[in-house]
Amino acid sequence: MNAPNVKILAERIKIKINNFPYILLRPKIDKNVLELFKGKRGIEIGGPSFFFSFTGPLPVYGVAKSVDTINFSMDGSNLKKINRNYNFVLSCHSLEHIANPIKALMEWKKKLHPSGIICVIVPDKRYTFDWMRKYTSFRHILTDYKKKTTENDLTHKTEIIEGTDLQLAKIARNKKEYGKKISKNASSRIMHHHVFSVRLLKHISRYCNMKLLMIKHVKPFHIFMIIEK
Ligand SMILES: [Zn+2]
Repeated sequence: MNAPNVKILAERIKIKINNFPYILLRPKIDKNVLELFKGKRGIEIGGPSFFFSFTGPLPVYGVAKSVDTINFSMDGSNLKKINRNYNFVLSCHSLEHIANPIKALMEWKKKLHPSGIICVIVPDKRYTFDWMRKYTSFRHILTDYKKKTTENDLTHKTEIIEGTDLQLAKIARNKKEYGKKISKNASSRIMHHHVFSVRLLKHISRYCNMKLLMIKHVKPFHIFMIIEK
């Protein structure tokens, strides 16, 4: 492997500095936000997640009436088997693993009671191994939706192999090994299909006709959004 250049080393140091103290400080989301989940029934796509645990930034598990879970790798954008509705849907670091985000959000929305909410957390690429990748455009996400892109999509494979900082990701020793893992993504669900910005998430929410209640960067490496049906 070639020695990383100065820019890559500088970025890795910046990311490590950003991550380190906040893990100890355990920042919390505003207490008023937690009220949205108090005594309510919800479902989590994937999980359980540290983010919603007692010591996490938003301890939903401690205040909700119940939180069901569904294995996102099997059914993240297909909730047809779920025959009940909820007050909230949680998705913590799962939307980036889903090939067709608008389809997923539309499905999650269908499972909400009126005025139900969806809480989405995705990586803030500036502080993760995606830092070299470009933000995905809304046009692309819309095309995935209109083309009915399925979960075995490998459109982004080359871009991901080229743009992932494997020294930070620690999920493969080199690009070749990573490529092999990505080829089996339909079962491993290792890849981040898309790279989200605040702007992109807002655009997607508008398209899904959901009302934006809150969107913010949360240290060390999250973008946190709540939208309402
Ligand atoms: Zn895509």
